[in-house]
Amino acid sequence: MKTSLLALLLTAMTVTAAPVAIVIHAGAGGKPTLPAELEKQYHAELAKALRAGHAVLKKGGAAMDAVEAAIVVMEDSPLFNAGKGAVFTSAGENELDASLMDGSTLQAGAVGGVTIIKNPIRAARAVMEKTPHVMLAGDGAEVFAKKAGLEIVPRKYFHTDRRWKQLQEWKAKQKDKKRSALETTNEYLGTVGCAALDVHGNIAAGTSTGGLTGKQYGRLGDSPIIAAGTYADNRTCAISCTGHGEFFIRHAVAFDIHARMKYKQESLAQAARALVQQTLKKAGGRGGIIGLDASGNIVMEFNSPAMNRGYIDKTGKLHTAIFREEK
Ligand code: ASP
Repeated sequence: MKTSLLALLLTAMTVTAAPVAIVIHAGAGGKPTLPAELEKQYHAELAKALRAGHAVLKKGGAAMDAVEAAIVVMEDSPLFNAGKGAVFTSAGENELDASLMDGSTLQAGAVGGVTIIKNPIRAARAVMEKTPHVMLAGDGAEVFAKKAGLEIVPRKYFHTDRRWKQLQEWKAKQKDKKRSALETTNEYLGTVGCAALDVHGNIAAGTSTGGLTGKQYGRLGDSPIIAAGTYADNRTCAISCTGHGEFFIRHAVAFDIHARMKYKQESLAQAARALVQQTLKKAGGRGGIIGLDASGNIVMEFNSPAMNRGYIDKTGKLHTAIFREEK
């Protein structure tokens, strides 16, 4: 009796002592400055998303639930390029992509090019849990989401005047032959992502986006692609990417960080730096990644002027930042 009580106490102590951590991004790219009011709003929304995810972890909840909770906050915020506030395609529509992955089981789910699902990250989760598949796209994903009981909204729900204006600016720049599409898309922050570590030592990652302003109708980026925009494996890391998706797909960025850790025994920081500052930079791919490992080490690496980012680390410290020079 005495021994089992002791064992119970010890288990409880281990659970409370087990570290939890969460890290998010809300898009890379950016101009080196922002209007002060917008900057303030970014920090506030980043902190809100971090707290939502962290609350799940503190209660002993799963890393997957924390990732979903943090991303839903950012999808619901018109500030970010995910869910409400998503950017527009060249055809003037919003098409959303999302994915997530459980590092403890290597189960994953994704949706691509969806237009009426309020929270695409929830649809990605449902694909993982309720179908034998990893990714559903377009109409099929939407019919499935309806059947799964997810919240459906009219297409105009995703419209914001700010993003519409960005599309008009983007169109105007396309006429100026001196500027490439790549340069112009670099200005727009906003894709969101999260990685989390729970008390059970499990890690997970997720990403949600409207893609790139002016993207061709039907284009899918890296965000819904497991191994490109999202990857998680308890043995290595949980990663979410943001930036010019085509480069992240070509270089399988999230998976390659995992692979360098697994096969070359690199640390998370080393592997992330190699991908973002060498591989991507050499190829001309702008963007960044956030991630963590099962010990709660956090990484936020980017090669653009800014990346909306933040974490609550294993000591409970909350930090948010936007520009390069902010530590
Ligand atoms: N990676 C996203 C895409 O290419 C965009 C972004 O991260 O801002 O769709």
